[in-house]
Amino acid sequence: MGQNETEPRLDPITGLPTRQDMAKALDAELAAEDVNGAVMVIGLDNFQLVNEICGPSVGDEAMRQIAENIANVLPYDITLYQLSSDQFALYWHDCMPEEMEIVFASLQLSLRDIAAIEDKIYCTTTAGVAFYPRDGKDTDTLLRFAQAAKTIGKIEGGGDRICFFNQESYDKWHYRVMMEGLMKNSIARGCEEFMLYFQPQVRAKDESLYGAEALLRWRTADGQILPPLEFIPVLEKTRLIIPAGHWIIEKAVETCKKFQQYIPDFQMSINISLYQLEEQMLYPFVADCIERHGVDPSTIVFELTEGQNVTDWEFVNSQFAAFRNLGIKIAMDDFGSGYATLDFLREFKCDLVKLDRAVILDILKDDYNKNLVKYSVKLCHAIGMELCVEGVEEKEVFEFLRDECEVEKIQGFYFGRPEPEDVFMKRLTK
Ligand code: C2E
Ligand code: CA
Ligand code: CA
Repeated sequence: MGQNETEPRLDPITGLPTRQDMAKALDAELAAEDVNGAVMVIGLDNFQLVNEICGPSVGDEAMRQIAENIANVLPYDITLYQLSSDQFALYWHDCMPEEMEIVFASLQLSLRDIAAIEDKIYCTTTAGVAFYPRDGKDTDTLLRFAQAAKTIGKIEGGGDRICFFNQESYDKWHYRVMMEGLMKNSIARGCEEFMLYFQPQVRAKDESLYGAEALLRWRTADGQILPPLEFIPVLEKTRLIIPAGHWIIEKAVETCKKFQQYIPDFQMSINISLYQLEEQMLYPFVADCIERHGVDPSTIVFELTEGQNVTDWEFVNSQFAAFRNLGIKIAMDDFGSGYATLDFLREFKCDLVKLDRAVILDILKDDYNKNLVKYSVKLCHAIGMELCVEGVEEKEVFEFLRDECEVEKIQGFYFGRPEPEDVFMKRLTK
């Protein structure tokens, strides 16, 4: 009765020593002079499924076997510890990354038998490693960094791998996690820190303003305005783009209505990411939003932002078909950047093509670049597409596009940068 505090408390299922025991041993190791080595955290990628599908007693038995198999592939002087219910850890004095890789490979092999528990579940493992003294000099830091490396390997790399701690990817991941928290809070508060900027779009023939593209911004607590490329990937990865997308559409349609007081057929372009299309409620939301604000749907343009990630055009086209039936115009964004873009023209049913800034960057350099743009535009015209060229910054580029290429629409810093609503409004009221 009454367990002695100094005696190791073994994990009741696997019989392994626990995190507290590891901390004690590693503290002692790190206290010595000139030590070097590595801490490895091993996680089972989807062990909770074993419990959920096969039941907890099969789960316990599988866990016992897993612990035994892992311990068996380790060198005899390395102790395996139970870090939490489905995580193990170890430290290894004076070891090289290659040795860790070799041990991890045999560890993966040792789990093969258990991997197909009752042939139903394939349970893989991901390990994270931090080296001492390079990555950290105390137990907490080393465990934290090894664990973070494991999480990065699982989330970013898809798991079933070993991942070494690296400050740069840690910083990126840390930033993402932090942004994710901030975005979640902001969305819960009604998208408080989000803002829409509006960039003018003009007709090439007479430089008259006809519309704007709504571009998302994020205002940080210290008043900085972050560009979308820093946080939209976070919104997309976490699917927060769905609630944020509703806010964007609501705000853009509302602003469109305001701008239409000055230009009745003012067009508002709204970026729609692939993830948003997967949402069932998008169509009823959009239809309702447009009706509530009393906006003519044919003045709204949806731009599909990351066409390069589309694997199922049929799905994309069918989703957009509903919006087109409503009267909304569909645009292919970033044409000419990335790859397989000619293929997109064949696959994607749209009304407008937006030629990417990358395509016109070297336009004035030589005939080759001029012809490339000129015939890309001709190609789009030949198949009945309207064209808007993005990223126009110079007069000569604009004139070439207007006179030689007969481009209809232009959007670029030459005619105006993205700006807040009140600033944009001055263009309409002057
Ligand atoms: P995009 O849709 O291609 O938007 C055009 C981008 O090009 C904007 O960058 C704009 O500021 C920039 N740009 C326009 N003219 C010029 C120019 O003359 N020179 C240069 N150097 N740049 C020019 P921004 O606002 O940083 O947006 C970047 C991307 O973020 C957008 O690219 C779009 O893919 C995404 N994005 C922005 N807002 C939203 C949104 O509300 N929803 C979604 N899903 N994506 C958005
Ligand atoms: Ca766009
Ligand atoms: Ca674009």
